Amino acid sequence: MEFVDTHCHLYEPPLADDVDGVLARADESGVSRVVVPAYDLASWEKVMVMKEHPGVHAALGLHPWVAGEPLDSARLRDALRECGAVAVGEIGLDAKIESPSMETQRRLLRMQLGVACELDLPVLLHCRNAFDELIVELREFAPELRGVIHAYAKEPMLAQRFLDLGMHLAFGGAVTRPGSKAGRSVEMVPETRLLLETDAPFIGLHEVPPEQVEPRHVREIAGTVATIRGTTVEAIGRATTANARSLLRI
Ligand SMILES: [Zn+2]
Repeated sequence: MEFVDTHCHLYEPPLADDVDGVLARADESGVSRVVVPAYDLASWEKVMVMKEHPGVHAALGLHPWVAGEPLDSARLRDALRECGAVAVGEIGLDAKIESPSMETQRRLLRMQLGVACELDLPVLLHCRNAFDELIVELREFAPELRGVIHAYAKEPMLAQRFLDLGMHLAFGGAVTRPGSKAGRSVEMVPETRLLLETDAPFIGLHEVPPEQVEPRHVREIAGTVATIRGTTVEAIGRATTANARSLLRI
């Protein structure tokens, strides 16, 4: 059985304090590949260090929370090529924060979406309270743009709008919480667009606090997804691994 954690901040403590242990435990659970997205510019170097571990893949980009950091398209393009990144991320829009402004976030997002299309890389998207705004931006780059709405935890109707734009949806710890909206979306996403992730160490599972979550928990998330969809964990592993491998070309 094989799984891919398509979103894990492996360079953050406590994961960073025991990367070899974290990856060994992941491997024992069948989680053989981990995608590590950057956050701010300072994290780019950390991502490149993580990428040296077998089974670890890099994504570089600038998160909306740090949209004020200086980044131009040439620097992003060069860094993505240099480190053999499998995606641009994580990037997106967040209206829950007041600063950086939506306009600053939008400008940065557009630049990064453009580079992703130019290099034919998928994007890893973060979004809070700005889904309509995000859809407007994604439409500008459809249908060339490929990508993932990471940690998707909203209702099926919104999920459908992202599916219509060709996006994949990645589900994490939120689906393990009884009665979650994410659970209803898990039911309706076509098998070919389904991905799994932990976003460790930032999102907990029903009975695991965020700081204890590791890539190995993807197997548990897959178990919940399998129960919701009325299938086996093996089938979910097979489908989501195939999806991750073809989207990220890993
Ligand atoms: Zn993240």
